[in-house]
Amino acid sequence: EENVLEVKRLTKFFEVNRGMKPQVVQAVNDISFEVKKGETFGLVGESGCGKSSLGRTILRIYEPTNGEILFDGKDITKLSRKQMLPYRQKLQMIFQDPYASLNPRFTVGEIIGEPMEIHNIGTPKTRQKKVQELLEIVGLKPDHIRRYPHEFSGGQRQRIGIARTLALDPEFIVCDEPISALDVSIQAQVINLLEDIQKATGISYLFIAHDLGMVKHISHRIGVMYLGHMVEVGTSNDVYKKPLHPYSKALLSAEPIPDPNTARRKKRILLEGEIPSPINPPKGCPFNTRCPYAVAECFHQMPANFKVDNRQVSCFLYAPKYLRMRENLSIEN
Ligand code: SF4
Ligand code: MG
Repeated sequence: EENVLEVKRLTKFFEVNRGMKPQVVQAVNDISFEVKKGETFGLVGESGCGKSSLGRTILRIYEPTNGEILFDGKDITKLSRKQMLPYRQKLQMIFQDPYASLNPRFTVGEIIGEPMEIHNIGTPKTRQKKVQELLEIVGLKPDHIRRYPHEFSGGQRQRIGIARTLALDPEFIVCDEPISALDVSIQAQVINLLEDIQKATGISYLFIAHDLGMVKHISHRIGVMYLGHMVEVGTSNDVYKKPLHPYSKALLSAEPIPDPNTARRKKRILLEGEIPSPINPPKGCPFNTRCPYAVAECFHQMPANFKVDNRQVSCFLYAPKYLRMRENLSIEN
Protein backbone atom coordinates (compact mmCIF):
# COMPACT_ATOMS: atom_id res chain seq x y z
CA GLU A 1 0.00 0.00 0.00
CA GLU A 2 0.95 3.60 -0.50
CA ASN A 3 2.48 5.62 2.31
CA VAL A 4 0.88 8.89 3.32
CA LEU A 5 3.77 9.67 5.66
CA GLU A 6 7.43 8.66 5.79
CA VAL A 7 9.52 9.82 8.71
CA LYS A 8 13.24 9.44 8.16
CA ARG A 9 15.80 9.76 10.95
CA LEU A 10 13.72 12.50 12.59
CA THR A 11 15.32 14.26 15.54
CA LYS A 12 14.02 17.04 17.78
CA PHE A 13 16.25 18.52 20.45
CA PHE A 14 15.02 21.38 22.66
CA GLU A 15 17.29 23.85 24.37
CA VAL A 16 16.19 24.59 27.89
CA ASN A 17 17.68 26.95 30.43
CA ARG A 18 18.22 25.45 33.85
CA GLY A 19 19.80 28.15 35.95
CA MET A 20 22.68 29.63 33.97
CA LYS A 21 23.48 26.57 31.92
CA PRO A 22 21.62 25.90 28.68
CA GLN A 23 20.84 22.19 28.38
CA VAL A 24 19.55 20.03 25.58
CA VAL A 25 16.48 17.80 25.89
CA GLN A 26 16.73 14.93 23.41
CA ALA A 27 12.98 14.58 22.93
CA VAL A 28 12.93 12.76 19.58
CA ASN A 29 16.02 10.84 18.59
CA ASP A 30 16.69 9.43 15.12
CA ILE A 31 13.20 8.02 14.50
CA SER A 32 12.14 6.37 11.22
CA PHE A 33 8.77 4.82 10.38
CA GLU A 34 5.97 5.17 7.87
CA VAL A 35 2.17 5.40 7.93
CA LYS A 36 0.15 3.94 5.07
CA LYS A 37 -2.93 5.51 3.52
CA GLY A 38 -6.00 4.61 5.55
CA GLU A 39 -3.87 3.18 8.34
CA THR A 40 -3.85 3.90 12.06
CA PHE A 41 -0.37 3.84 13.53
CA GLY A 42 -0.48 3.59 17.32
CA LEU A 43 2.31 5.22 19.30
CA VAL A 44 2.79 4.05 22.89
CA GLY A 45 5.17 4.66 25.75
CA GLU A 46 5.20 6.15 29.25
CA SER A 47 4.57 9.87 29.65
CA GLY A 48 7.64 11.92 28.85
CA CYS A 49 9.00 9.44 26.29
CA GLY A 50 8.56 11.93 23.43
CA LYS A 51 5.29 10.77 21.84
CA SER A 52 3.68 14.21 21.77
CA SER A 53 6.93 15.85 20.68
CA LEU A 54 7.17 13.38 17.79
CA GLY A 55 3.54 14.09 16.79
CA ARG A 56 4.07 17.84 16.90
CA THR A 57 7.38 17.69 15.06
CA ILE A 58 5.76 15.67 12.26
CA LEU A 59 3.20 18.49 11.85
CA ARG A 60 6.00 21.10 12.09
CA ILE A 61 4.33 22.64 15.13
CA TYR A 62 7.88 22.10 16.41
CA GLU A 63 10.67 22.63 13.89
CA PRO A 64 12.66 19.44 13.42
CA THR A 65 16.33 19.52 14.40
CA ASN A 66 17.21 16.93 11.78
CA GLY A 67 15.70 14.38 9.43
CA GLU A 68 12.98 14.24 6.80
CA ILE A 69 9.17 14.19 6.91
CA LEU A 70 7.75 13.00 3.61
CA PHE A 71 4.06 13.68 3.16
CA ASP A 72 2.68 12.13 -0.06
CA GLY A 73 6.34 11.73 -1.06
CA LYS A 74 7.26 15.39 -0.55
CA ASP A 75 9.71 16.44 2.16
CA ILE A 76 7.87 19.16 4.10
CA THR A 77 10.77 20.04 6.41
CA LYS A 78 12.22 22.47 3.90
CA LEU A 79 9.01 24.24 2.88
CA SER A 80 8.53 27.93 3.58
CA ARG A 81 5.57 29.20 5.61
CA LYS A 82 3.68 29.87 2.41
CA GLN A 83 4.55 26.55 0.80
CA MET A 84 3.44 24.84 4.02
CA LEU A 85 -0.12 26.27 3.84
CA PRO A 86 -1.78 23.47 1.84
CA TYR A 87 -0.10 20.94 4.17
CA ARG A 88 -1.46 22.78 7.21
CA GLN A 89 -4.89 21.80 5.86
CA LYS A 90 -4.05 18.19 5.14
CA LEU A 91 -2.19 17.57 8.41
CA GLN A 92 -4.27 18.05 11.53
CA MET A 93 -4.23 17.35 15.25
CA ILE A 94 -6.76 16.25 17.86
CA PHE A 95 -5.78 17.23 21.37
CA GLN A 96 -5.97 15.37 24.64
CA ASP A 97 -7.96 17.82 26.68
CA PRO A 98 -11.44 18.49 25.30
CA TYR A 99 -11.87 21.22 27.94
CA ALA A 100 -8.76 23.28 27.24
CA SER A 101 -8.77 23.00 23.44
CA LEU A 102 -12.13 24.72 22.81
CA ASN A 103 -12.38 28.48 23.31
CA PRO A 104 -15.21 28.99 25.86
CA ARG A 105 -16.20 32.39 24.41
CA PHE A 106 -17.05 31.05 20.96
CA THR A 107 -20.12 29.13 19.87
CA VAL A 108 -19.76 25.59 18.60
CA GLY A 109 -20.47 26.90 15.09
CA GLU A 110 -17.68 29.47 15.33
CA ILE A 111 -15.25 26.91 16.75
CA ILE A 112 -15.87 24.33 14.04
CA GLY A 113 -16.06 26.93 11.25
CA GLU A 114 -12.94 28.87 12.23
CA PRO A 115 -10.36 26.71 10.37
CA MET A 116 -12.35 27.16 7.12
CA GLU A 117 -12.48 30.90 7.73
CA ILE A 118 -8.73 31.07 8.39
CA HIS A 119 -8.02 29.15 5.20
CA ASN A 120 -10.56 31.22 3.21
CA ILE A 121 -12.67 28.24 2.26
CA GLY A 122 -16.23 28.90 1.04
CA THR A 123 -18.68 31.61 2.05
CA PRO A 124 -20.32 32.15 5.46
CA LYS A 125 -23.33 30.28 4.11
CA THR A 126 -21.46 27.24 2.76
CA ARG A 127 -19.35 27.14 5.90
CA GLN A 128 -22.44 27.03 8.09
CA LYS A 129 -23.82 24.18 6.02
CA LYS A 130 -20.54 22.28 6.35
CA VAL A 131 -20.50 22.86 10.14
CA GLN A 132 -23.99 21.36 10.39
CA GLU A 133 -22.91 18.35 8.33
CA LEU A 134 -19.85 17.90 10.53
CA LEU A 135 -21.99 18.04 13.67
CA GLU A 136 -24.09 15.22 12.26
CA ILE A 137 -21.02 13.18 11.30
CA VAL A 138 -19.71 13.34 14.88
CA GLY A 139 -23.10 12.45 16.34
CA LEU A 140 -24.27 15.86 17.53
CA LYS A 141 -27.31 17.87 16.45
CA PRO A 142 -27.11 20.55 13.72
CA ASP A 143 -28.88 23.03 16.04
CA HIS A 144 -26.01 22.72 18.55
CA ILE A 145 -24.30 25.26 16.32
CA ARG A 146 -25.37 28.19 18.53
CA ARG A 147 -24.42 26.63 21.86
CA TYR A 148 -21.23 27.11 23.90
CA PRO A 149 -18.65 24.47 24.89
CA HIS A 150 -19.58 24.55 28.60
CA GLU A 151 -23.03 23.21 27.71
CA PHE A 152 -21.50 19.89 26.64
CA SER A 153 -20.04 16.86 28.40
CA GLY A 154 -16.38 15.82 27.99
CA GLY A 155 -17.22 13.24 25.34
CA GLN A 156 -19.35 15.72 23.40
CA ARG A 157 -16.59 18.30 23.56
CA GLN A 158 -14.15 15.80 22.13
CA ARG A 159 -16.67 15.27 19.29
CA ILE A 160 -16.73 19.05 18.71
CA GLY A 161 -12.91 19.01 18.61
CA ILE A 162 -13.01 16.18 16.07
CA ALA A 163 -15.56 18.06 13.92
CA ARG A 164 -13.27 21.11 13.92
CA THR A 165 -10.35 18.94 12.86
CA LEU A 166 -12.39 17.43 10.01
CA ALA A 167 -13.51 20.82 8.69
CA LEU A 168 -10.48 21.07 6.38
CA ASP A 169 -10.83 17.52 4.98
CA PRO A 170 -7.45 16.41 6.33
CA GLU A 171 -5.58 13.32 5.07
CA PHE A 172 -3.59 12.69 8.22
CA ILE A 173 -4.45 13.41 11.87
CA VAL A 174 -2.22 13.20 14.92
CA CYS A 175 -4.55 12.10 17.73
CA ASP A 176 -2.68 13.00 20.93
CA GLU A 177 -4.26 10.87 23.66
CA PRO A 178 -7.75 11.91 22.53
CA ILE A 179 -9.52 9.56 24.95
CA SER A 180 -7.24 9.65 28.01
CA ALA A 181 -9.19 12.46 29.68
CA LEU A 182 -12.58 10.82 29.03
CA ASP A 183 -14.66 8.43 31.14
CA VAL A 184 -14.02 4.81 30.27
CA SER A 185 -17.66 4.47 29.17
CA ILE A 186 -17.17 7.25 26.60
CA GLN A 187 -13.75 6.14 25.32
CA ALA A 188 -15.11 3.34 23.10
CA GLN A 189 -17.62 5.71 21.50
CA VAL A 190 -14.90 8.16 20.47
CA ILE A 191 -12.73 5.29 19.16
CA ASN A 192 -15.69 3.99 17.13
CA LEU A 193 -16.31 7.46 15.75
CA LEU A 194 -12.68 7.81 14.64
CA GLU A 195 -12.85 4.37 13.02
CA ASP A 196 -16.10 5.21 11.19
CA ILE A 197 -14.56 8.43 9.88
CA GLN A 198 -11.54 6.47 8.67
CA LYS A 199 -13.71 3.92 6.87
CA ALA A 200 -15.68 6.70 5.17
CA THR A 201 -12.74 8.93 4.19
CA GLY A 202 -9.59 6.76 4.04
CA ILE A 203 -7.89 9.14 6.46
CA SER A 204 -4.72 8.06 8.31
CA TYR A 205 -4.09 8.49 12.04
CA LEU A 206 -1.08 8.64 14.28
CA PHE A 207 -2.79 7.60 17.50
CA ILE A 208 -0.87 8.42 20.68
CA ALA A 209 -1.60 6.71 24.00
CA HIS A 210 0.33 5.74 27.11
CA ASP A 211 -0.89 2.19 27.28
CA LEU A 212 -1.07 -0.57 24.72
CA GLY A 213 -4.59 -1.59 25.66
CA MET A 214 -5.92 1.73 24.38
CA VAL A 215 -4.27 1.55 20.95
CA LYS A 216 -4.55 -2.18 20.36
CA HIS A 217 -8.03 -2.18 18.82
CA ILE A 218 -7.85 0.96 16.74
CA SER A 219 -4.27 0.50 15.44
CA HIS A 220 -3.17 -1.53 12.45
CA ARG A 221 0.46 -1.18 13.49
CA ILE A 222 2.09 -0.04 16.71
CA GLY A 223 5.33 1.75 17.52
CA VAL A 224 6.74 1.60 21.05
CA MET A 225 8.74 4.62 22.24
CA TYR A 226 11.22 4.86 25.08
CA LEU A 227 13.26 7.92 25.98
CA GLY A 228 12.93 9.57 22.57
CA HIS A 229 13.62 6.39 20.60
CA MET A 230 11.34 4.08 18.64
CA VAL A 231 12.30 0.70 20.10
CA GLU A 232 9.86 -1.58 18.27
CA VAL A 233 7.45 -1.40 15.32
CA GLY A 234 5.10 -4.18 14.26
CA THR A 235 1.50 -5.06 13.53
CA SER A 236 -0.84 -4.46 16.43
CA ASN A 237 -1.47 -8.17 16.75
CA ASP A 238 2.21 -9.16 16.72
CA VAL A 239 3.31 -6.54 19.23
CA TYR A 240 0.41 -7.29 21.55
CA LYS A 241 0.70 -11.07 21.35
CA LYS A 242 4.48 -11.31 21.40
CA PRO A 243 6.37 -8.13 22.16
CA LEU A 244 10.05 -8.51 21.24
CA HIS A 245 11.84 -5.56 22.80
CA PRO A 246 12.46 -5.95 26.55
CA TYR A 247 10.75 -2.60 27.16
CA SER A 248 7.65 -3.60 25.15
CA LYS A 249 7.51 -6.82 27.19
CA ALA A 250 7.61 -4.86 30.43
CA LEU A 251 5.03 -2.33 29.22
CA LEU A 252 2.66 -5.10 28.22
CA SER A 253 3.17 -7.19 31.32
CA ALA A 254 2.06 -4.19 33.40
CA GLU A 255 -1.37 -4.16 31.73
CA PRO A 256 -4.38 -5.64 33.44
CA ILE A 257 -5.24 -9.06 32.06
CA PRO A 258 -8.87 -9.22 30.89
CA ASP A 259 -8.77 -12.89 29.93
CA PRO A 260 -8.05 -15.26 32.86
CA ASN A 261 -6.95 -17.99 30.41
CA THR A 262 -3.92 -15.95 29.39
CA ALA A 263 -3.04 -15.06 32.99
CA ARG A 264 -1.01 -18.25 33.46
CA ARG A 265 1.16 -17.53 30.48
CA LYS A 266 1.78 -13.88 31.25
CA LYS A 267 4.73 -13.17 33.49
CA ARG A 268 4.87 -9.74 35.07
CA ILE A 269 8.10 -7.90 34.45
CA LEU A 270 8.61 -5.16 36.97
CA LEU A 271 10.81 -2.36 35.81
CA GLU A 272 13.26 -1.16 38.39
CA GLY A 273 14.47 2.41 38.56
CA GLU A 274 13.18 5.63 37.09
CA ILE A 275 13.14 6.58 33.42
CA PRO A 276 16.42 8.44 32.85
CA SER A 277 16.24 12.13 31.93
CA PRO A 278 16.14 13.00 28.22
CA ILE A 279 18.68 15.70 29.15
CA ASN A 280 21.19 13.09 30.23
CA PRO A 281 20.25 9.87 28.48
CA PRO A 282 22.46 6.84 29.14
CA LYS A 283 25.25 5.96 26.72
CA GLY A 284 24.44 3.05 24.43
CA CYS A 285 20.94 1.59 24.51
CA PRO A 286 18.50 4.04 26.16
CA PHE A 287 16.92 1.13 28.08
CA ASN A 288 20.18 -0.23 29.56
CA THR A 289 19.62 1.20 33.06
CA ARG A 290 16.43 -0.83 33.52
CA CYS A 291 16.83 -3.78 31.17
CA PRO A 292 16.99 -7.23 32.78
CA TYR A 293 18.76 -8.68 29.72
CA ALA A 294 21.49 -6.10 29.12
CA VAL A 295 24.82 -7.37 27.76
CA ALA A 296 28.16 -5.51 27.74
CA GLU A 297 27.59 -4.04 24.30
CA CYS A 298 24.38 -2.35 25.45
CA PHE A 299 26.37 0.10 27.56
CA HIS A 300 28.52 1.62 24.83
CA GLN A 301 26.69 1.19 21.57
CA MET A 302 23.28 2.15 20.28
CA PRO A 303 21.54 -0.95 18.89
CA ALA A 304 20.56 -0.77 15.22
CA ASN A 305 17.01 -1.46 14.02
CA PHE A 306 17.01 -5.20 13.43
CA LYS A 307 14.38 -6.78 11.18
CA VAL A 308 12.63 -9.78 12.72
CA ASP A 309 10.05 -11.16 10.29
CA ASN A 310 8.07 -8.06 9.34
CA ARG A 311 9.00 -6.26 12.51
CA GLN A 312 11.61 -3.72 13.49
CA VAL A 313 13.28 -3.96 16.88
CA SER A 314 16.09 -1.88 18.29
CA CYS A 315 17.81 -4.31 20.65
CA PHE A 316 21.09 -6.24 20.48
CA LEU A 317 19.34 -9.46 21.48
CA TYR A 318 17.95 -9.55 17.96
CA ALA A 319 21.32 -9.16 16.28
CA PRO A 320 22.08 -12.41 14.43
CA LYS A 321 25.11 -13.15 16.62
CA TYR A 322 23.00 -13.15 19.79
CA LEU A 323 20.41 -15.52 18.43
CA ARG A 324 21.74 -18.54 20.35
CA MET A 325 22.02 -16.56 23.57
CA ARG A 326 18.48 -15.29 23.20
CA GLU A 327 17.24 -18.85 22.97
CA ASN A 328 19.17 -19.80 26.11
CA LEU A 329 17.69 -16.88 28.00
CA SER A 330 14.29 -18.25 26.99
CA ILE A 331 12.86 -14.77 26.94
CA GLU A 332 9.13 -15.14 26.98
CA ASN A 333 6.08 -13.00 27.42
FE1 SF4 B 1 18.28 -4.44 26.86
FE2 SF4 B 1 20.57 -4.35 25.54
FE3 SF4 B 1 18.32 -4.82 24.24
FE4 SF4 B 1 18.85 -2.41 25.22
S1 SF4 B 1 19.97 -3.45 23.59
S2 SF4 B 1 16.92 -3.49 25.35
S3 SF4 B 1 19.88 -2.91 27.13
S4 SF4 B 1 19.27 -6.14 25.79
MG1 MG C 1 1.93 13.73 25.83
